[in-house]
Amino acid sequence: MNKIKNTMTVIIAVFCLMTTMQAGAVDKEGKFVLVIDPGHGGKDPGAVNGKNQEKTINLKVALKMGKLIEDNCKDVKVIYTRKTDVFVELYKRADIANKAGADMFISVHTNSSKNKSANGAETYLLGVEDNRTSANLNAALEENKAILLENDYQAHYEGYDPNSPESMIIFEFMQNEFQKESLKMAQFNQNQMVKGAKRPDRGVHQAGYLVLWKSAMPSILIELGFISNNAECQYLVSQKGVDEMGQSLYKAFKEYLEYHNKQTNKAVPTSQAIGNKQTNTPKEASQESLPVYKVQFMSLKTPLKKNDSRLKAYENVDYYTENGICKYTCGDTTDYDAILNTKKEVQKKYKDAFVIAVYNGKRISVKEARQINSKNK
Ligand SMILES: [Zn+2]
Repeated sequence: MNKIKNTMTVIIAVFCLMTTMQAGAVDKEGKFVLVIDPGHGGKDPGAVNGKNQEKTINLKVALKMGKLIEDNCKDVKVIYTRKTDVFVELYKRADIANKAGADMFISVHTNSSKNKSANGAETYLLGVEDNRTSANLNAALEENKAILLENDYQAHYEGYDPNSPESMIIFEFMQNEFQKESLKMAQFNQNQMVKGAKRPDRGVHQAGYLVLWKSAMPSILIELGFISNNAECQYLVSQKGVDEMGQSLYKAFKEYLEYHNKQTNKAVPTSQAIGNKQTNTPKEASQESLPVYKVQFMSLKTPLKKNDSRLKAYENVDYYTENGICKYTCGDTTDYDAILNTKKEVQKKYKDAFVIAVYNGKRISVKEARQINSKNK
């Protein structure tokens, strides 16, 4: 009898869990959603040193960090891409985060090098550094090779070939929407690993990590240390190592959360100010003073040449610069439905194209633009 009761409890518990997970996909309940991604798993051990495997270190540190956040940050919802030793494709990891509408994606890894004395911790955000022959490129290439274990990887990464460094060029064309937030998180994280856990500092870098490329939110990838360095490996597999690394990742996230909350609070008066201006002077609200929608489809380090065919591919192709990156847009309308049609068209070629809103020469959120436009209809 007791046994049946227990089984029923488990079934109900699992059902509840499934329901909350599904609810999370549409409703964030006003919470900050953090996705923690312990690298590798299952048939993919990641880097190894003797019997020590990267996947185990990543998971232990990630769980430690997640537990501390769950216990101490009630306004945060933590989602893991894996909580056990299972294989999860890279694109699925990003999918989990995208579907949950995550506000931050943190991927946890451990580095490896042929040079056995290499050691220290580093934090990455997505991007391409000028020095293509750097160790950063190799680290990213190594991590991206995980997709070779996936059944149908050609179908999911738009022709990216993990065996070819030239393939990394696709990262020059990616959207860099969340660079500012990613950099903040990366800096907090690196600082905590160095000051808190006393790890040798290898700095914050940019590199082309597939798992970050596919996630549409601020994101970082952490290399905790080198499994190939015997001393560092011993530290990372020890309880002390797991606790200290988990602690510093947690503290860094808390710092980011404070920063994020301050930014969000700051944003409120600005949007109110725009709203007030609009309501106080409705007669002045001519077509020109309304927010316009555009489709952003490409980010480049340098502007295109005047005769580049890509400039003529769509109507009203234009660009603006942000953090030194040229962001190309097309379309220019106050009609939201019209811009959605344009986006559909552009996505045939640029899958990740998305709608932006511009108001008085400045980017504002699409949500804000729609609110202003609906008041002025
Ligand atoms: Zn890894």
